[in-house]
Amino acid sequence: MEGLAQRLLRIKPSPTVAMTAQVQLMKDQGRDVIGLSAGEPDFATPAHIRAAACAAIEAGKTRYTAPDGIAELKAAICRKFHRDNGLSYEPAQISVGSGGKQIIYNALMATLNPGDEVIIPAPYWVSYPDMVALARGVPVIVKTTPKAGFRITAAQLQAALTPRTRWVILNNPANPSGAGYDWAALESLAPLLMQHPRVWVLSDDIYEHLTYDDFRFCTIAQVAPALHGRSLICNGVSKAYAMTGWRIGYGAGPAPLIAAMRSLQSQSTSNPCTISQWAALAALEGPQDCLPRHARLFQRRRDRVMALLNATGRMRCLQPKGAFYLYPCIADVIGMRTAKGRILHTDEDFTAALLEEAGVAVVAGTAFGLSPYFRISYAASDEALQTACHRIQDFCAALTR
Ligand code: PLP
Repeated sequence: MEGLAQRLLRIKPSPTVAMTAQVQLMKDQGRDVIGLSAGEPDFATPAHIRAAACAAIEAGKTRYTAPDGIAELKAAICRKFHRDNGLSYEPAQISVGSGGKQIIYNALMATLNPGDEVIIPAPYWVSYPDMVALARGVPVIVKTTPKAGFRITAAQLQAALTPRTRWVILNNPANPSGAGYDWAALESLAPLLMQHPRVWVLSDDIYEHLTYDDFRFCTIAQVAPALHGRSLICNGVSKAYAMTGWRIGYGAGPAPLIAAMRSLQSQSTSNPCTISQWAALAALEGPQDCLPRHARLFQRRRDRVMALLNATGRMRCLQPKGAFYLYPCIADVIGMRTAKGRILHTDEDFTAALLEEAGVAVVAGTAFGLSPYFRISYAASDEALQTACHRIQDFCAALTR
């Protein structure tokens, strides 16, 4: 279309959102498709949170609020950081937005000047590079390896840092790989970050509560208190409390950065949904027993899906430390031919053929900056996961050279 802004040329629509839309379209056409492309828990938001939202409506808490959140929620977020992470924040250091996505977007828009670089370890959450590009920054992609647990190493970080580096993004645990930075891993990066005072750390901790086995979550500002003043922690209620549609995320960082983000939000979306803010307050302050319950459930699903995918003999999965995705390597199937004669040159060919021939929707590694892989979400019912994995097994068994 003509007449669009130049900035749009720098970005593409979110590939995960596009795949989810395609699945819906195919379902509407009556096709038998199992969608494992989206990143959202499949269970209901806990009852006490839903009740808090209804109570807010009944109490008339339905008007505009301060652009970046009600005082009660900011105070609850401060308590959350103290309780879960041992970190102290004032309400002026907290921003509430319409999802963690808006917080990250605001932070990048508020701080990047043309040519500023942002270091992003790959595989990455699809939105980071495009948000950086939209803010006229330069995404500096650092490809991690399964050997390093899909984590950026100190040597890689050192090589990527330049005088133009503005942010380093750390997603812990990570989407799509499930990589987890434990204390030692963060400690190995901290001295380098301390040597570069212009560089800020954006720690995306949205999957904080979805961790498995003996992995213990921690965040960079805890490990390196000297970085507290130049870290922005992004988090939210979407993944932990099954609240993806409520659209509440939050950030904690230095007050001047938070004020700049507020200014941006006040001139764009204004406050996140008032009712959702009261619901998020109930999520953070109410019973927390759903968190370990959800984590246990996801860990069980992770193990089952991993076993079934590894049994194909055609892919290898690194065991995730958290989040709810597997990121199998499919180097072995590249160049093979499907039952219907498609040749799999790339991971995109693999996911397209899997969708068409087996009715399973996953997302190609290309979208996350590291190929040949694909991302499969195990945030789906046991039954859907079982059927999908059997279809993937049959699809792989039919591949020929
Ligand atoms: N960060 C990561 C790594 C994610 O995977 C997502 C959602 O998929 C978000 C942030 C944003 O979540 P929300 O905007 O729902 O809070």
